[in-house]
Amino acid sequence: MMPVDLIHLLSALVGSDALLTGESAVPYCTDWRGRYSGTALAVLFPADTQQVAEIVQLCAANQIAIVPQGGNTSLCGASVPLPQGEQIVLNLSRMKRIRAIDPTNYTMTVEAGCTLASVRETAEQNDRLFPLGLTAIAPHCEIGGNLSTNAGGISVLRYGNMRELVLGLEVVLPDGRVWNGLRSLRKDNTGYDLKHLFIGAEGTLGIITAAVLKLFPRPRSTATACVAIANPDAAVRLLAHIRASCGHALSGFEIISRSSLDLVFKHIEDAQEPFMRRYEWYLLIQVSDVLQDSPDGAVRNGLLSFGGAVLEFDIAADTDGAENWWKLRKNISEAQKREGFSIKHDIAVPVSCVAEFITRADAALRNAFPGVRIVVFGHMGDGNIHYNVSMPDAAQNKTFIAQQEGAVNKLVYAVVRELNGSISAEHGLGQLKRETIRDYKDPLELELMRNIKQALDPQGLMNPGKVL
Ligand SMILES: Cc1cc2nc3c(=O)[nH]c(=O)nc-3n(C[C@H](O)[C@H](O)[C@H](O)COP(=O)(O)OP(=O)(O)OC[C@H]3O[C@@H](n4cnc5c(N)ncnc54)[C@H](O)[C@@H]3O)c2cc1C
Repeated sequence: MMPVDLIHLLSALVGSDALLTGESAVPYCTDWRGRYSGTALAVLFPADTQQVAEIVQLCAANQIAIVPQGGNTSLCGASVPLPQGEQIVLNLSRMKRIRAIDPTNYTMTVEAGCTLASVRETAEQNDRLFPLGLTAIAPHCEIGGNLSTNAGGISVLRYGNMRELVLGLEVVLPDGRVWNGLRSLRKDNTGYDLKHLFIGAEGTLGIITAAVLKLFPRPRSTATACVAIANPDAAVRLLAHIRASCGHALSGFEIISRSSLDLVFKHIEDAQEPFMRRYEWYLLIQVSDVLQDSPDGAVRNGLLSFGGAVLEFDIAADTDGAENWWKLRKNISEAQKREGFSIKHDIAVPVSCVAEFITRADAALRNAFPGVRIVVFGHMGDGNIHYNVSMPDAAQNKTFIAQQEGAVNKLVYAVVRELNGSISAEHGLGQLKRETIRDYKDPLELELMRNIKQALDPQGLMNPGKVL
């Protein structure tokens, strides 16, 4: 079938106002960072699962590849088409119905296009918590995208990542059949747990159209501590210490380097230094509890009993005070974007090895590239560090990135490998790390992944050029 005929059929399926081509399709073909852009035959906005199934059947019959898309906030080029222009983008944003909420079962059933912010809000209106904490991007990213990237964020330490927050899925398979796995059971040992294949698959195995999410009791009291800490090694030890004093109430433990804060102060209005003195390393520690009593006593005791490596700290029990500190953390990505490109790494190592990773990677890079700027921040409580490398001078940075990205990655990933870590903790592989992963993942694991892909998507039409 000619592409023009296919577009007519697709338009008849979804309605002409739910199909974009040409210039109006461009924003959906470019990623959030502006690093990857492709072209598509069309961008489609289906209204329900039935329409998704019919689109997929039509595309399968005509061997047209599909790029599933949610909020298009992927940081690894996973959600945009390739440059050849022979794919369609299937954007789920119109599918944003909350299908059911069951506060007694602590679950809600939502469509894939619900934004994370809307899901959190609906849970709250029902006196429940949906804890996925991608706060900076929650109004834009969608549940389908969160599931497909197995997203993490700031509360993984307590609640786990997206994989741990879901009980059931509805998926349109690559041949157009609909798998209804929307179960809301806490226990179901009836063979392979298929939902886990689609979570974290970055749209390469099928299209998630709905999910049953787990809800939690809503915390009644929260406290945030902002801490100036001597170095990452002390931060690792403090984390273990604070866990012992705060237990289950500890819900976030974020590290921020001076270089990250400097970028925020340069690019974000009204951002304020947390203390009168400037320090090299900061932590944001969050504790929250369903009990009314504020949990700040536990964190205060933990900090006071730790010793001299805690250089200064303050605790805010009210949201306003804490919000000023969280604003610093949430705006690091935005400040980096405004500053220009950097070579980004989203790595994980065992929590006890975070300081060793930072020390060794810093030393290797500073030795190889004198004057390099290293921006370090992230979810230290999960051993997940965002480790971003650039040159402070804009002109020099352009050449540096063009010429040295591979060399920088090699140095950083060598340390990750030696510490038994992962080169992608929470952002996925997408286009960015599709080639690189071959050098860092066990060949047998890659072979098993290819076998699964072949079994579910033998024509290779689901988000080709990503992950594998
Ligand atoms: C400023 C910023 C901060 C971020 N912070 C974090 C963070 O703290 N933690 C974290 O984990 N991530 C973070 N991210 C990245 C994160 O991956 C995304 O924000 C989010 O999970 C992706 O959701 P999305 O709806 O935008 O998906 P998209 O970007 O549209 O898609 C992501 C992937 O999922 C696939 N996909 C999307 N919808 C579906 C579907 N319905 N069915 C099948 N496949 C689908 C796409 O094909 C693509 O492979 C951040 C991103 C930005 C820009």
